[in-house]
Amino acid sequence: MSDFNYLLLWIALPAVLLAALLCIHSIAELVEKLKAYWIGRQPEAWQDHNLNPNGMRDPLTQLPNRSVFMKKLQNAIRRAHASQSKVAVALINLDDFKPVKNTLHHLTGDAVLKIIAKRLEASLRGADIACRIGGDAFLLLIQEVKTHQEIELIIQRLIDSLISPLNVNDHAINLSISVGIGTYPAIPDTDHLIICADTAMYQAKSAGRNLYRFYDEEMGVAGDQLQELQLDLKQALENNEFELYFQPKVDAQHGHIRSLEALIRWRHPVKGSILPTVFIQAAERFGLISRIHHWVVEECCRTMHRLRSQGLHTQISVNLAAQQLRDPALVHHIVELLDQFQLPHSCLVFEVSGLMALKHPDIFNARMAEFQSAGIDIALDDFGITNASIAYLQKVQQVKLDRKITIKIAGDKKSYEMTDALIRLAHSLDLIVVAEGIENEAQARCLRELKCDMMQGHLLGHPVSADKLAPLLEQRSTKVD
Ligand code: C2E
Ligand code: MG
Ligand code: MG
Repeated sequence: MSDFNYLLLWIALPAVLLAALLCIHSIAELVEKLKAYWIGRQPEAWQDHNLNPNGMRDPLTQLPNRSVFMKKLQNAIRRAHASQSKVAVALINLDDFKPVKNTLHHLTGDAVLKIIAKRLEASLRGADIACRIGGDAFLLLIQEVKTHQEIELIIQRLIDSLISPLNVNDHAINLSISVGIGTYPAIPDTDHLIICADTAMYQAKSAGRNLYRFYDEEMGVAGDQLQELQLDLKQALENNEFELYFQPKVDAQHGHIRSLEALIRWRHPVKGSILPTVFIQAAERFGLISRIHHWVVEECCRTMHRLRSQGLHTQISVNLAAQQLRDPALVHHIVELLDQFQLPHSCLVFEVSGLMALKHPDIFNARMAEFQSAGIDIALDDFGITNASIAYLQKVQQVKLDRKITIKIAGDKKSYEMTDALIRLAHSLDLIVVAEGIENEAQARCLRELKCDMMQGHLLGHPVSADKLAPLLEQRSTKVD
């Protein structure tokens, strides 16, 4: 290289260095801007300045921080893509944590968060991780799962472990939590997984306590409609827009009415009569089901009390939504109402879905034991179409053969044989069998042959309003007490 070239190099070098420095500075600035944009998009609870953004851990709980979580999530998605498995992101939020923090010393609030973090860690499986994303919100990454059911089991175990009572600085604290879940591959990218889990968490929160919800697309789209339905349902309770209809359960051999099933209707002032399949699930979501249920039981007790004063003794079955079984005071409140109306406990039967037994066996078993010691019978609805374990049959007194089975019984040999086997099984356990959805004489004949105990359906009687019950029972009932 000539002297002249050296000279040029010495003149150009500082300029090149300066340009490189400027470039690095603007890249750093760009990164900062992207970070600010990302944080700006997060729900409020995530922007907690206590979280150390540069380190790997949340200084309060020592859980991994969000950036570690995001990296793990990306890797988990890559692996799930290769192995065709699922990844779930659960957003866990403590309910009513602000009052805890405000009424007690803030150090107590911190201690609660630390305990929750410890419990979270203790309930994790090897491959999963949890992080705190600010305030009282945590994220959980569940990987290497194949089915929704697996995820549900993990989340339910987690809820059970997080909500056991705490004692901090001599304060007994009962916390409840809400969990929203987004799953890959249904939601294909990391940011969306967290945003969807957040949306589902709010749905879980408005549905009650200690619940989880999976994100579904309707949550985003139907948000407005749901809000309208929520308002309407609240008004329905205040304006007395609910009504009970009663459908006879008749003796399969002799044809007299042995019992009635209460079926709720909603007389909407604009939309007309709305069926329970439309609004019961929404009422569960919005945390209104307990009030509706209380109204149903009270109305049934009032109806039976009135009928008894006319010398008409009957029994009424009431449907229970899954969420109600979670209420430890459920049986106590029912017994209070029965006593208030001076009714024998055997007057009420409660119908529960086998699905509840399958999903939450501990809660199901606890409630069943309480019903049994109160002398109140339980009927397992949906018998034959859910996979409820045979063990649960020992906890109930009746089973209801679902319409999906009885509809084919007269024309299809397999259905007939399956019904035969189900009735024999139930009878061997001393259970009463009620067949639902009986619409024609051929079905009724088959069920009589198979020694079914009771039948219910349009052939035997449509649901009727309370004012039609007295003449119906006078004509077609025998005394029950
Ligand atoms: P379910 O307990 O299995 O009730 C039977 C449903 O079948 C009722 O529908 C009844 O009207 C209908 N049904 C009765 N006989 C026949 C028939 O011969 N053919 C046909 N096609 N259908 C028949 P409904 O009243 O719309 O109730 C639907 C579900 O809503 C009930 O299913 C029950 O799970 C729930 N439900 C009803 N009332 C209440 C309530 O007060 N509380 C709760 N939590 N759930 C309720
Ligand atoms: Mg029922
Ligand atoms: Mg049923």
